[in-house]
Amino acid sequence: MFDYLIVGAGFAGSTLAERLASQLNKKVMLVDKRNHIGGNAYDRYDDAGILIHQYGPHIFHTNSKPVFDYLSEFTKWRAYQHRVIACVDGQLVPIPINLDTINQLYGLNLSSNDLEKWFASVAEPRAEIRTSEDVVISKVGRELYEKFFRGYTRKQWGVDPSELDACVTARVPTRTNRDNRYFTDAYQAMPLRGYTRMFENMLGHQNIKILLNTDYKEIIETIPFKKMIYTGPVDEYFDFRYGKLPYRSLRFEFETHDKPVYQPGPVINYPNDYAYTRVTEFKYLTGQESNKTTVVYEYPQDEGDPYYPVPRQENADLYKRYAVLADETPDVYFAGRLATYKYYNMDQVVAQALTLFGKIAEHDTEIALPMATTVSSGSRLTDVDGVAFRPQAIARNGNGHNGRRRQNGSGKARSQNAKTDGKGNGDPARYVKPTS
Ligand code: FAD
Ligand code: UDP
Repeated sequence: MFDYLIVGAGFAGSTLAERLASQLNKKVMLVDKRNHIGGNAYDRYDDAGILIHQYGPHIFHTNSKPVFDYLSEFTKWRAYQHRVIACVDGQLVPIPINLDTINQLYGLNLSSNDLEKWFASVAEPRAEIRTSEDVVISKVGRELYEKFFRGYTRKQWGVDPSELDACVTARVPTRTNRDNRYFTDAYQAMPLRGYTRMFENMLGHQNIKILLNTDYKEIIETIPFKKMIYTGPVDEYFDFRYGKLPYRSLRFEFETHDKPVYQPGPVINYPNDYAYTRVTEFKYLTGQESNKTTVVYEYPQDEGDPYYPVPRQENADLYKRYAVLADETPDVYFAGRLATYKYYNMDQVVAQALTLFGKIAEHDTEIALPMATTVSSGSRLTDVDGVAFRPQAIARNGNGHNGRRRQNGSGKARSQNAKTDGKGNGDPARYVKPTS
């Protein structure tokens, strides 16, 4: 009998599996319908031997020390500050828009003070910043909005920025200095040996069994468990009872080139040309050295794997109805970007998972180990570089037990008002600042 069936081996599911196994000695079955762990952060070596991110570029950045410390248990890091170039009017200029962007684009020689005044002269103040159009136009005016944001956003989301919540374009700041970093978070780094290696280290505990290539619905009746953590799309869990929640998807096109470097920076955004939004060259992110290089083109689309919840009021309203159902479902916890329908970065998902773990731990009546208040876990089997460990998929439907979901109405810890996350932290909103 497993204590937990966890659906999804991404950041949400893997963090919870790791914590439950190592801190509460729970027996965990982690199931994913894909053939690998890591969720959308999965990386692997391609045929040319280049480390690629199969689901698009993933750059780790956070302001949360607890989250960074937690993940540092499972990986060493490569310091990496991300920079992005936008291709606008035939020029390659830095994005987020900064002093160099404007001087280069318009052939000016403004100072930071000049630029502040310049922005003020072109900005169109808005009484209320409600949409993604408002955010940009109120800061830098219509012309820059159209050069950098309108086309990119329409491609990426399939709707106009005026139909998206402010939070989408608000992820990209505007600067009057020359800081051309994409993020300014306190911690910015890439897992030294890649994300998948980090996940392997997280999931190396002997209490965690991993079942890949399997939709949880295939095994829910045959694998016995007490509680469930679900990190897939929330609408799917409830058989789309209230209709489909929109998720935006992407098609990735990888290209390997027989040269060491392909483009002049890690990511080039194409707001106005082509069907793709951006091109990423992985070697900049990973620091890998090779005579070959691999890039990925991202083509946004509606169909396909659900990658992005779409932040719009009507979708938030629909999600709220599903959230009520989720709250009313005994012994099932919902976590992660898809199950809580939030446009979360990796660090925010980890923070959310740690908080949920804290709530579970606080209300757990069967704790076998003393509650840990630090991130260290004495029972870990692997070293940080993960040399010793490869996750083992176990046979499907192996034991023939009849799994029955406990519907005893004992109440869910998540609906109660917990104060800690087992690491001495509270609500993620309190310790993960917005990252842009
Ligand atoms: P996921 O990683 O989506 O994991 C959910 C898992 O559940 C999946 O593996 C799925 O196969 C599995 N699953 C779903 N349904 C079932 C089922 N029925 N049965 C079994 N398994 C199921 N964040 C950053 O911080 N920095 C970045 O640079 C960044 N770049 C990104 C770029 C792209 C293109 C995308 C799409 C996202 C990016 N993110 C980035 C966000 C990041 O991917 C997410 O925050 C994080 O991976 C979410 O983790 P998760 O566990 O919630 O979900
Ligand atoms: N965006 C844009 N132009 C850019 C970069 C971003 O219009 O050059 C907008 C676009 O709507 C995008 C959003 O800002 O979806 C957030 O950008 P981010 O780079 O954070 O997107 P992600 O990495 O999550 O795909």
